[in-house]
Amino acid sequence: LSALLASFLSLVAGAGQLRPPLPAACLPRDLFGQGFAPRLRTDRNSTARVSTDFGQMVTAAPEAVLHPASPGDVAALIRFSASSPAPFPVAPRGQGHSWRGQALAPGGVVVDMRALGRGRHRAPRINVSSSADEPPYVDAGGEQLWADVLRATLPHGLAPRVWTDYIRLTVGGTLSNAGIGGQAFRHGPQIANVDELDVVTGTGEMMTCSKNKNSDLFFGALGGLGQFGVITRARIRLERAPKRVRWVRLAYTDVVAFTKDQELLISDNQASEVVAFDYVEGQVQLKQSLVKGPKSTPFFSAADLSRLAKLASMSGSAAIYYIEGAMYYAEDDTATFVDQKMEALLEQLSFEPGFVFTKDVTYVQFLDRVREEERELQSVGAWEVPHPWLNLFVSRSRIVDFDNGVFKALLKDANPAGIILMYPMNKGKWDDRMTAVTPTTGEDDGVFYAVSLLWSAFSPEDVHRLERQNKAVLEFCVQEGIGCKQYLAHHTSQEGWQQHFGAKWSRIAELKAKYDPQALLSPGHRIFPKPV
Ligand code: FAD
Repeated sequence: LSALLASFLSLVAGAGQLRPPLPAACLPRDLFGQGFAPRLRTDRNSTARVSTDFGQMVTAAPEAVLHPASPGDVAALIRFSASSPAPFPVAPRGQGHSWRGQALAPGGVVVDMRALGRGRHRAPRINVSSSADEPPYVDAGGEQLWADVLRATLPHGLAPRVWTDYIRLTVGGTLSNAGIGGQAFRHGPQIANVDELDVVTGTGEMMTCSKNKNSDLFFGALGGLGQFGVITRARIRLERAPKRVRWVRLAYTDVVAFTKDQELLISDNQASEVVAFDYVEGQVQLKQSLVKGPKSTPFFSAADLSRLAKLASMSGSAAIYYIEGAMYYAEDDTATFVDQKMEALLEQLSFEPGFVFTKDVTYVQFLDRVREEERELQSVGAWEVPHPWLNLFVSRSRIVDFDNGVFKALLKDANPAGIILMYPMNKGKWDDRMTAVTPTTGEDDGVFYAVSLLWSAFSPEDVHRLERQNKAVLEFCVQEGIGCKQYLAHHTSQEGWQQHFGAKWSRIAELKAKYDPQALLSPGHRIFPKPV
């Protein structure tokens, strides 16, 4: 009965919202007289929907949500706020797959970017160019999901070159961070594969930018955590799409052998070989999670996991490490040809003999692989739970120290729910003019590791325990002088951000003063708590 009553009340509230919405107490009244006002929502249902994110670590409702019909609506909203005597914060929200409130706007307006792609009568917001005169590219709205970009490019036999592990994220959301995955060792992060952007700045100006035009905004916005503008279009480079993927996991008990092989696989020599992986990542599975964790996963059968658990016990290793590699191939390549290529590649590696796990899938199945995990977790209520995630970039020279201190000491007897990723990338593939930061490499020959501690929490106690654990990891890095950088970073003070950006800080402050002087945009990061 109470559910019925609640849905009746929400219908009534929604009906009152058709147009124009009721003004929100904390926003200027004349906002609700603007041309875009019919697309503002102030009812509790609408604001509650955007008051947290995938991480569920922070909750704060905005005063209103804008469902823009065009980038012009976004610009008009920001212009209104920027010129108001009482400016209010504005946060674009893609899929809300952040985990520390980065897409929230307490006291202000969340822009539901996904609305830009809705509406049957609007011009398509994904356009592929595949003419013979220039390299192929796709122009995609910032609100588009990478999965939809893939769907649009594949009929042309084309696809973007770099993917995040999960592709139901928006173009603007991942480009505001960097967008990393197993192809980044060869092509750099997603931000290094973009040639042009349309951006609405924090003063409400709509600007097109590239390496040669308004280049400070272009480099600033890529990896810019939404601080300088809202990305409404990105021109993304494409490559010929393969049809199928041979996908392997190779088990190691020794971190040195594991990292040595990973680095061999991403080295420039190797990457340019015909026989090479097109995707290289890696995972760490703590021994306790093999013994006490799930009995099967979408990749490993129960029999595989029981063999791996035995391997862990026999070797006495605190963890098993997996290299995850993928070799793309065309439909007309024969199975024997692919087998031979794979064999030639595996011969160079030192994984535990017999511990090769292979799958053969379509390219789309491979790219959309996390969707299967999402469905499974959703079916047992384990997807929409708090995620106190910690992502670090650790330079190659300290990765074994990190492993010793974290996986073999701090987490030795732990069995947290979640997964741990660990894979190397080539720093030379990142463009240092962009806002995203990587660790200073020194004598590392330009390689650093992404280490992702992707935890799920099932109770408030879990959240506290995992947060303490994350804190201990960060403290260990500071104590040992492991100069790591957070990726998808979370800092609670401007000092923390200054340290995070290091030598880039002064340029970031200048860009903020130029493009968002009132500090309206994406306030959830807490980089600029007040106007600059
Ligand atoms: P949101 O969470 O909605 O927004 C993120 C930030 O960007 C906010 O500050 C927001 O205000 C701002 N923003 C949103 N849209 C725009 C825009 N158009 N213009 C400017 N600013 C904008 N990341 C990786 O790099 N590699 C991975 O493999 C990877 N895997 C993931 C797997 C899962 C299951 C999840 C939940 C996240 C993963 N991520 C990964 C992290 C992900 O890239 C970021 O959380 C990203 O921000 C999510 O995109 P979103 O569309 O949900 O952005």
